[in-house]
Amino acid sequence: MNIKEWIKTLTFYEILLGMKATMSHLLHYKPITLQYPHEKRSLPSNYRGMLALLRYDDGTEKCVGCDLCEAACPSRVIRVVSAEVPGEPTKRYSKEYDMDMTRCLFCGLCVQACPVDALGMTQEYEWAVYDAIE
Ligand code: SF4
Ligand code: SF4
Repeated sequence: MNIKEWIKTLTFYEILLGMKATMSHLLHYKPITLQYPHEKRSLPSNYRGMLALLRYDDGTEKCVGCDLCEAACPSRVIRVVSAEVPGEPTKRYSKEYDMDMTRCLFCGLCVQACPVDALGMTQEYEWAVYDAIE
């Protein structure tokens, strides 16, 4: 053992080195905990949150009731009942559109399958409610 190693042993060099890292962390401490719900995390643009059925700017629903989202969903979340638009036999719409979001994997396959971009994944992640709907 040479003199340098002896000095390191006598001065507990490794412990001092560790304490230096600890002290540096303490002195430059920045809290990373967010005070939710008063502070909210900024999400990445491709975050997959709550699914939404979209509308055109004039308020009409984009969905044409084609069932492709239902067929694409691996978890059987979506149920679509389509019908003809009254007076326009060539047009269809979703008369009933149900989602059981308790089964959703947030895989986005339904969004990809939709031919008219009627489905979108929002950035909404606050699902808790005060009163549940039966
Ligand atoms: S995100 Fe995936 S699991 Fe959820 S409804 Fe769409 S296809 Fe089904
Ligand atoms: S795939 Fe799109 S247009 Fe077809 S039923 Fe689903 S949401 Fe509607």
